[in-house]
Amino acid sequence: MILDRAIVRLLPAVPRPVVQKLSERYIAGAELKDARETVRRLNAQEKMATIDVLGEEITNEDEAAAIVRAYLDVFADIERCKLDSNVSVKLTGLGLTLGHDICRANLETVVVDAASRGNFVRIDMEDSSTTDDTLQLYRELRAAGHDNVGVVLQATLRRTLSDIRDLADLRPSVRLCKGIYVEPPEIAYRDFGAVRANYVRSLEALLDAGCYVGIATHDEWLVGEGKRLVKERGLEPAQYEFQMLLGVRDDLGGRLVRERHRLRIYVPFGRQWYEYSIRRLQENPRIAGYIAADTIGRFVPGRRNGA
Ligand SMILES: Cc1cc2nc3c(=O)[nH]c(=O)nc-3n(C[C@H](O)[C@H](O)[C@H](O)COP(=O)(O)OP(=O)(O)OC[C@H]3O[C@@H](n4cnc5c(N)ncnc54)[C@H](O)[C@@H]3O)c2cc1C
Repeated sequence: MILDRAIVRLLPAVPRPVVQKLSERYIAGAELKDARETVRRLNAQEKMATIDVLGEEITNEDEAAAIVRAYLDVFADIERCKLDSNVSVKLTGLGLTLGHDICRANLETVVVDAASRGNFVRIDMEDSSTTDDTLQLYRELRAAGHDNVGVVLQATLRRTLSDIRDLADLRPSVRLCKGIYVEPPEIAYRDFGAVRANYVRSLEALLDAGCYVGIATHDEWLVGEGKRLVKERGLEPAQYEFQMLLGVRDDLGGRLVRERHRLRIYVPFGRQWYEYSIRRLQENPRIAGYIAADTIGRFVPGRRNGA
């Protein structure tokens, strides 16, 4: 446990090739064809997908435009290959830090293309410096008549219940997650139990407001609470979904599918894999073991394949 925490702090110093190897299970690959194959495999297991083009480190308009083009390629591919998948976008990847208008235009291009193909765009939620802008852009798109778009809310944030009340008039499609970013205690719950409690309260509020919810968690207790809350409200499987990340808790996901709940898997792909990988590895409770095994594999001949 102490070793785990130390390694989490040191992760940014771990060589990139090691990070890349460790994160293979969380990322479909570098190219669209890798995402396609992963989604095909998931669909064959009766799991839906949401494809994420990795690219949050953009610094100029051309890079944001490249991300937009990548999403248009994704939609064309989903349609051509008849995949059961929507997409998830990060507004920083679409130019949020470059300016509101640039980001809005890019987001609208993606959403309009999705609509023309009967598809849907989920706007991921990033750190708290982006929450207001993200919700504002979501409102603007809905006000402009785009209904094939949804947002993400984070149970870690103290403001989330209030955001649910503010958004309720839109009956938003919401992915509810705990929230991955480390935020100051003034605005975020730090205690594990408090985050869980806020998750349950937020889920109840969303369901009671008639929202379609993506219950995004691998926390078995919360999955149980999610099942209880949808059952109490007599919801059909088509009226909500569970969501999980590629490479995390396949066992729990498989169980949900066998119980006839809908499950969507988050499938990231792209060349800019590093930031995403670090975040996933920092959450992995067995990270110390993986890194130790990998390191040993580098120094003990013949050990690598078996590690
Ligand atoms: C589909 C989806 C989309 C998401 N989108 C966003 C978003 O837009 N914004 C945002 O801030 N966060 C997002 N997240 C991340 C989320 O906020 C949490 O950080 C993450 O899901 C871990 O929280 P948890 O609810 O699974 O509970 P935890 O208590 O963190 O995890 C429960 C259990 O799951 C397993 N587990 C969790 N993570 C890993 C891992 N990396 N490797 C191996 N095992 C693991 C462990 O067994 C752990 O005990 C998303 C998560 C999902 C599932």
